Amino acid sequence: MRQLTITALVGCATWIGLSSWAVAAEDKKADNIRVVLIDGQNNHDWRSTTPFLKKELEETSRFTVDVSTAPLNKNDKKPAPEGSIAFPPDLNKYDVVLSNYNGDPWPEEFRKALESSLKDGKIALVIVHAANNSFTNWAEYNLMIGMGWRDNKFGDRLILDADGKEKRVPKGEGPGAGHGAGHAFQITVRDADHPVTKGMPHEWMHAKDELYHGMRGPAEHVHLLATAFSDKAKGGTGEHEPMIWTLDYGKGRVFHTPMGHDVEAMRCIGFIATLQRGAEWAATGKVTLPLPKDFPTAEKTSAIPAK
Ligand code: ZN
Repeated sequence: MRQLTITALVGCATWIGLSSWAVAAEDKKADNIRVVLIDGQNNHDWRSTTPFLKKELEETSRFTVDVSTAPLNKNDKKPAPEGSIAFPPDLNKYDVVLSNYNGDPWPEEFRKALESSLKDGKIALVIVHAANNSFTNWAEYNLMIGMGWRDNKFGDRLILDADGKEKRVPKGEGPGAGHGAGHAFQITVRDADHPVTKGMPHEWMHAKDELYHGMRGPAEHVHLLATAFSDKAKGGTGEHEPMIWTLDYGKGRVFHTPMGHDVEAMRCIGFIATLQRGAEWAATGKVTLPLPKDFPTAEKTSAIPAK
């Protein structure tokens, strides 16, 4: 393509504009953040959420997303979706691993590859919703995600008190992971200067979702960007629970949100922008993607239409 347009340049001045456009487009593609999304097992409907996550990332023109579907659970009789690349993926080809996976342990060699690539800052990790339920017995994974769906004896929990001050609840005290009934709830930004949350309203309404509470883990190097109040009237804890956080694992950046139970929750424009900006930040340490104009407000949810 590049050769063709350069040849065309010689004979025809009108090609100049077109050829520079073509080169620019190629360069842009070369600069794209390469994401590998891993799915194949989840107690959630990964067959519908994976294409949604891929589409929302690729629509920014900032990402290219390959899907790597791990061997299905033996009880899953539906066929694996088409178009998946081989599992496990070659991490050298990617900037970000996005996990939409909650299931059997990944092969040891791949686990070690992820540990070292992330530790060395060669790859980033993005965790969505039930991906944090996975791999309870993989110690390094628990360090990567900070906190996840674990019982209260597993590790510490982070909450914010009424003054917005972070509080560490030791293991054994208070509830373990859970959630009340699905409902729309308010997100409170706790670090308005971070590239991911910069410009977001201090409070914004997230569409109907599960509000995870009592998440447990080593909770080391966790930087809370946003929380949500878990209302006891909805089956929650009466505490401000972590909803968006980042974490350093060695030199590697991790972006984690427990939001995103299903496509309905993911259609929230706040969720989409958080995911896109979180993935960009994890890959590059910066955010160039602007916040959409129709971002939710403190009072009103805002979602893209259902298909
Ligand atoms: Zn869920």
